[in-house]
Amino acid sequence: ARGRKLWVGGNWKCNGTKGSVDTLIKTLNEADLPPAEALDVVVAPPHLWLTHTIETIKDRVTVSSQDCNQFGMGAYTGSLSPEMLLDAGIKTTIIGHSERRDIFHENDEEIGKKVAKALSCGMNVIACLGEHLEERKSGKTNEVLFRQLAAISANVTDWSKVVIAYEPVWAIGTGVVATPEQAQEAHQALRGWLNEKVSAEVAASVRIVYGGSVSAVNSADLAKMPDVDGFLVGGASLKPDFIVICKNLVAHKPAAH
Ligand code: PEP
Repeated sequence: ARGRKLWVGGNWKCNGTKGSVDTLIKTLNEADLPPAEALDVVVAPPHLWLTHTIETIKDRVTVSSQDCNQFGMGAYTGSLSPEMLLDAGIKTTIIGHSERRDIFHENDEEIGKKVAKALSCGMNVIACLGEHLEERKSGKTNEVLFRQLAAISANVTDWSKVVIAYEPVWAIGTGVVATPEQAQEAHQALRGWLNEKVSAEVAASVRIVYGGSVSAVNSADLAKMPDVDGFLVGGASLKPDFIVICKNLVAHKPAAH
């Protein structure tokens, strides 16, 4: 049997009105999602709607934050602490999304501290990494991915609480999806690094999901790749396509490999 449980997350980013969030929650609540034994389903609403979402969405769907701070409670205007999220029932957070890195200038060191803080509080972490187009074009993809992964890995105490999201920046929100071969190659490289630097057990058990213009159509072929354990979905997670992506992953993933 396949060792790694499949995983799909929807990152709603800074989108939604109360009305559209309610519509999305209703769609998910009425959806015939694959069984929980086969697939973890996670959604990450904007901070404003986290408590509303966790109070109204069915238990089948895990609610995640899109970010958290590395400090805890206190004089940190504009941020959310892991303790505060946990108190509200939010046990998962995305950390290191490329928009946090590029638009909000978060570097590997800060992302590492956030990973350490979230895990020390008992949260689950979706740790994102990925190369820019120029880095890929100049043959630096693995160098960049390994640097980002090393900064994350140095702060991981319990790998069972971590999902790695490989999200090439050139594929995010662009409609230019990585080919299944490009995704597989990167995921295999990341798993190889974990095998060498952490342990064979962690390399074999950690979920590595792909993100970047995943759609209802392209998810079927991406799902067939052995080291692709699921998807982190942006744009399509705001539409019923998200449910098709969940179903495609389970339907097209070979049973064992
Ligand atoms: C994301 O930002 O995590 C993402 C994958 O976005 P999109 O699916 O819109 O490319």
